[in-house]
Amino acid sequence: MRLLTVNPLDIDAELCAPVVDRVPIERTLYPFETRCEFGVSFGKRQPIVLGIDLGDPSKPDVIIEGEIEQGAVEVEQHGIDLVPTGRLSGKQGHRTIIPTMSPPPLADLHLHSHHSDGLLTPEALIELCASRGVTLAALTDHDTVAGCEAARLACQQHGLRHINGVEVSCAWNGQTLHVIGLDFDPAHAELSTHLSSIRTRRAERLAEIGERLERKASIAARPLVEAILAETEVPTRMHLARSLIAAGHAREISEAFDLWLTRGTPGHVPEEWPTLIETVTALRAAGARVVLAHPHRYRLSGGALRRLLGEFREAGGEAIEVSVAGIGPSDLDRLATLARNLGFAASTGSDFHDPSVPWNPPGRFAKLPTDLEPLAARLG
Ligand code: AMP
Ligand code: MN
Ligand code: MN
Ligand code: MN
Repeated sequence: MRLLTVNPLDIDAELCAPVVDRVPIERTLYPFETRCEFGVSFGKRQPIVLGIDLGDPSKPDVIIEGEIEQGAVEVEQHGIDLVPTGRLSGKQGHRTIIPTMSPPPLADLHLHSHHSDGLLTPEALIELCASRGVTLAALTDHDTVAGCEAARLACQQHGLRHINGVEVSCAWNGQTLHVIGLDFDPAHAELSTHLSSIRTRRAERLAEIGERLERKASIAARPLVEAILAETEVPTRMHLARSLIAAGHAREISEAFDLWLTRGTPGHVPEEWPTLIETVTALRAAGARVVLAHPHRYRLSGGALRRLLGEFREAGGEAIEVSVAGIGPSDLDRLATLARNLGFAASTGSDFHDPSVPWNPPGRFAKLPTDLEPLAARLG
């Protein structure tokens, strides 16, 4: 396992023999809320001052004061990005301790590259994962496995464990759902055919969206679509959202979707994807472990979601994404309860696409409740 490079922790010599048995672990609970843990043992109750070096010379350290005898010092911060460096000090003097234990595994099983609608190459993506302490990574581009081999080689180079991945578009009761396949044979014929038919449908759909935007909104969208189709194998609405912004038709991605690309807007084209059952079947045929992505994002009643999960499991689904970047505490609780009650393993991932988006860098998502079985523990 890769060791994080951690600055020495300075600890007061008077504080008995403080033992730092864990390096700080950077973990985000929810966007802009980060938890950091230091395992310490002083032998008696002691006041401590914990300084977190934000790794940014323009910002002062965050200082947290408290009292502790033994155990983990937990620090939760809002609005800042903690980095795994720190200084623990008491009232008199300092001592330097070099922490020796490596951080626990951090599995990001939902990542995008420029092979679909992400912006980074698989190599740059995995480098970023490595720099953020991710220890197990799965590139899960939409409807393609084109980046898997490059991701595997990059993981090898950076000392990460790698799992093949893909995020597949499918339909259930008139809704688009995303199903993630992990740890499968990327060359499997049935799966390859399944994915390539979706990509063909994607190209037709983007052309239809372009025509509708011309007809209904007088936007010169066809050239934008042609440029996208010429440069990517997996044309998505995200590509078109970016082109619409560049052409001045929206200020940001969410606005481009809200104005032009969702139901009720001029560019909406009803989606036609293979069914959930066909999708899970094709993934299972290739040996995949199958995960329902971001279940909280679908517009489904509680009853419909439970029905969906029943059918998903029946078809061979094994896990649901419980901790995914951007999920709020109540949705996380709800999904954790569903995973617990229905016996699904729990998956974790950032759904990272774009390094300029601050809230979901690789490796940043809530910790799973400890009673759930992480899907990552079953992989490899
Ligand atoms: P597609 O699969 O072509 O429908 O494109 C959907 C992609 O666009 C998703 O994978 C997301 O990355 C992104 N996306 C979808 N809806 C939105 C939205 N409302 N705001 C921002 N991004 C979105
Ligand atoms: Mn996407
Ligand atoms: Mn998705
Ligand atoms: Mn995704």
